[in-house]
Amino acid sequence: MLKGGCYCGAVRYETAASPQQRTACHCLTCRGISGAPFVAWFSVPAGSFRFVAGEPARFRSSERATRTFCAACGTPLTFESTGHSDKIDVTVCSLEDPEQAPPVDHTYGRSQLSWVRLGDALPVHPEARPK
Ligand SMILES: [Zn+2]
Ligand SMILES: [Zn+2]
Repeated sequence: MLKGGCYCGAVRYETAASPQQRTACHCLTCRGISGAPFVAWFSVPAGSFRFVAGEPARFRSSERATRTFCAACGTPLTFESTGHSDKIDVTVCSLEDPEQAPPVDHTYGRSQLSWVRLGDALPVHPEARPK
C-alpha cells in the first residue's frame, strides 16, 4: 500500500497498486505548477487510487490534462490525462516514503534547465518516454 498526501495533511490518498512509469519530468508545465526544476511522478491504475481525507483542488493545466493540488498548502498531487483516464499520475514526493517510487528515467529533457546537473546515470528522453 502506498500512502501519501499534501504537506499540511488536509488531503491524503492511498493506492494498493505498485508504482509504474516512474519518471522525473522536466516539462514546462510541471515546472510551472510546482515551482521546482523538475517533478518526479509515478503512475497507477485510476481504479486503485483514492483520496481518503480531504478533497484536492482541481486545475485544468492544458486541454488534455487535469491536475490536483491541496488548496490549503499547494502541494501538487496528481495528473490525469483525458486521453488515458485508466491511469493516474501521482507526485513521488507527496508519498510518505518517496523511496518507494524512485524514477527510472527523465522525460522532457529537451526543457531541462542549464543549471540542473544530473548524476544518476538514468536515461534522459527529449520528450515523453518512447512507447
Ligand atoms: Zn495541504
Ligand atoms: Zn511534466
